[in-house]
Amino acid sequence: MTENNIDGPMECEDCGKVCNGIQGIRGHRRACPGRKPAAFNQVREPLEPVVEPGTRVVGVPNQQITLGSRLDAEGVNVVLRVHEPVRARREQLRDSLPIRRLSDPIARANQWPTYEDWYGLSRDVARLELACERILQQARVSRDEPWGLHQLAITIRNRWVSWRREEAYRTWKQRASQRERDEELTGNDLEDVLTDFGVPELEHDWNRVIRGLRWVTAHTRPTR
Ligand SMILES: [Zn+2]
Repeated sequence: MTENNIDGPMECEDCGKVCNGIQGIRGHRRACPGRKPAAFNQVREPLEPVVEPGTRVVGVPNQQITLGSRLDAEGVNVVLRVHEPVRARREQLRDSLPIRRLSDPIARANQWPTYEDWYGLSRDVARLELACERILQQARVSRDEPWGLHQLAITIRNRWVSWRREEAYRTWKQRASQRERDEELTGNDLEDVLTDFGVPELEHDWNRVIRGLRWVTAHTRPTR
């Protein structure tokens, strides 16, 4: 399996074309027919209704598409800081997938998270990464998107952290029983094993991503 297709087929969110992994979708997006041209926002904005505070707007067509925010410099920075750990973690996950595949029979036999579970997680991280890239390319975010991405990031963190925590815990228990047999006196602190497994760092990274997306959610308002 090459780096190109390890993420599996992924669908372009703008035109629906199925591409070969995250690299394939990046290549496609340079010429995607469904992508809004850069001038889209300039063209559309004068047509949008001016809404006075407290006014209820009924029957406005295209409201769903036109509501959203342009990202200012601060917003761009926040999304960049979200994108970086997502990218790094997605690559880490991708690199671990071949091993997950090999150990899948053991995982299944023990009812641990399977290769499919890890693969699904990796796809979700890739989806989040691509969404960040799309937001950065368009310097614009639709009103509902940040909240959805924020929720997605929470499910990613919860799965990934708990699965790694379980792995660390199993190793810790295994070492503890080994130590009992060997009457070895070296310390085996659970906290140390969690650190060896990178759990605190993993949790920290995802909390940072979630905070960033919460910021974007809070700062997304209807376009003025
Ligand atoms: Zn497309």
